Amino acid sequence: MSYILFSMTERKAAKRHRCIWCGEHIEPGDTYSDERSVYDGEIQRMRWHPECRADAEDGWKNGADEEFMPHCAERPEPLPKAPA
Ligand SMILES: [Zn+2]
Repeated sequence: MSYILFSMTERKAAKRHRCIWCGEHIEPGDTYSDERSVYDGEIQRMRWHPECRADAEDGWKNGADEEFMPHCAERPEPLPKAPA
């Protein structure tokens, strides 16, 4: 397998998206992680809840398979919001 990360940016959703990890919506105004990468030659654009991205990375660090089925994971507890 090959994986190239182009960019991972924190964005504020202007419209509703779907999280690649848990399949739940990312609502307008929510912050999400916008990932652009190439996986085995396929350009992919993935949007993540911040807590879902953290959950995935935790798993990978602990040796979990990097391939995953979209929308199949359980959404973890949201990260505490930074004080405004
Ligand atoms: Zn999610």
